[in-house]
Amino acid sequence: MTLHRQRCVRHPDREAAARCPACGRFFCRECVTEHEGRLLCAACLRPPDAPADAQRRASVLKRLQAAARAVALAASLLLLWGFYTLFGILLNAVPHRFHDSTAFETLWADGAE
Ligand SMILES: [Zn+2]
Ligand SMILES: [Zn+2]
Repeated sequence: MTLHRQRCVRHPDREAAARCPACGRFFCRECVTEHEGRLLCAACLRPPDAPADAQRRASVLKRLQAAARAVALAASLLLLWGFYTLFGILLNAVPHRFHDSTAFETLWADGAE
């Protein structure tokens, strides 16, 4: 299999000038691009880079969203804790007479006087 017997995959009328090491197909000069010292075809040059980049961006976004969710959860827990504490303080502030309903009796008693 000699190189000049091969034709460009994308241009059947042109002789192949290089073989893409990634996919093993033959391409003319116009269809290959040098990338990190290797001649790669356009199809092999783009996909591995683009999805990786998109994936990296997506994973960063996902991590950010997870962090935001964690912060929101912590904030809501803190808020809930604060409310419970406040509620506890309020309940503690209520006089014991209120719970055994003697508070009303004294109120009525006071009103009757
Ligand atoms: Zn290729
Ligand atoms: Zn070509």
